[in-house]
Amino acid sequence: MRRILFLLFLLAFVAIAPVAGSAAESPKTLFVRCGTLIYDTEKPPLKNADVIITNGKITAVGQHLAVPAGAEQLDLSKDTVLPGFLDAHIHLWTGPREPIASGPLQALRAQQDMRHALSVGIVGVRVLGSNNFIDVALENAIDEGIVPGPHVIPAAHPISIIGGHDDFLSFPEEYPLTSFYTPLNGFVNSPADAEKAVHLQIKYGAKVIKVFASGGVLSPLDSPFAEQLSPEELRVICEEAHMDNLKVAAHAENIRSVMAALNAGVDSIEHGSELDAEAIDFMKSHHIYLDPTVFIVGNILKNGAKMHLPSYVLSKAHILASKHFASFAMALKANVTMAAGSDQSYGPTGGTVLDEMIALVDHGMTPEQALTAATKHDADLMGMDQLGTVAVGKEGSLVAVEGDPLADIHAVKNTRAVIFEGQIVPFVGKPIHY
Ligand SMILES: [Zn+2]
Repeated sequence: MRRILFLLFLLAFVAIAPVAGSAAESPKTLFVRCGTLIYDTEKPPLKNADVIITNGKITAVGQHLAVPAGAEQLDLSKDTVLPGFLDAHIHLWTGPREPIASGPLQALRAQQDMRHALSVGIVGVRVLGSNNFIDVALENAIDEGIVPGPHVIPAAHPISIIGGHDDFLSFPEEYPLTSFYTPLNGFVNSPADAEKAVHLQIKYGAKVIKVFASGGVLSPLDSPFAEQLSPEELRVICEEAHMDNLKVAAHAENIRSVMAALNAGVDSIEHGSELDAEAIDFMKSHHIYLDPTVFIVGNILKNGAKMHLPSYVLSKAHILASKHFASFAMALKANVTMAAGSDQSYGPTGGTVLDEMIALVDHGMTPEQALTAATKHDADLMGMDQLGTVAVGKEGSLVAVEGDPLADIHAVKNTRAVIFEGQIVPFVGKPIHY
């Protein structure tokens, strides 16, 4: 009897399957009417252009295009449409640090970060350090369509020394923390540990490797002017990551750690608070990206006390800032290729890469350079060739803003609509349908 039931079930499935198949085949087309289209941030914009997106991919870009039969139409004829933005350096807001929440609760909180990122027009993020493989889980859940959010490139645990920039634990030394300070959690004490740490991050889903070459500002135990991972550990990490075609992003805030990271073969310098002519020449000749994170440094100086940041954070930020902005100015003048990374956690009240673009302009970039950093350069650094420009064959992920961000970069914050893989993101702005 059971066998007959199974057979009936199989027959029913075979009968239904072709129907489901043909429904999935009918193309879903979105016709977007743009007032101004910045299809490539380094080329003159097109006025009154249209973009056609079919099954998530851009199939036509141009003026006076015919509306395909059955297409959904979106009128953004009063707005400026751009390729969706990317953020090359984020973390995840998983709740206040104390008391420490469980992994599942942190993950539930973090999914709000991804929804928030998408709602302001960010279609790709690189999470450069989080706990419990939450970033890997978010990447999968977003790809499965379970939660809304941008494409996620997870680093899983950043690789750090014990007592370094990833060490926020303040337990006394008699606590048995041997199961916490492990290569799986990103903590290393030797080149052999470093190799193991890379393999474990990759096994559990990392698509980029993050290293702390120097100490940092927000951590309680260390200094941004200290070197942390050894040159040999950095070298092993780069070698192992590159063997798996993963890039390495190095947090480096003093010149010795910047040079150690560059000589080890990293693909981007994050922060780069202390640069010199040698470092700049190396970055230019080896096409290494600088992700200058100017917003977070300025924001800590301006609002750190209001944000109730600990006094050690404020004093470290003050010492760092003068070198940081001078190094950024030097790199900008020398034409080092720059990415845009906010170093923000996308919590309910924090900043985003939109703030980073505004800060980049405040510190000397043109709006065009800032927009290029957050679109084409980030797409290149993040290995997301399908994003960064609006062109036939690219992914249909766009953002519309009110005003002209090439004239006033603040316009990037006037989000009117977001389109992700050809779908209008429902919880954004008020696009007009007709
Ligand atoms: Zn960071």
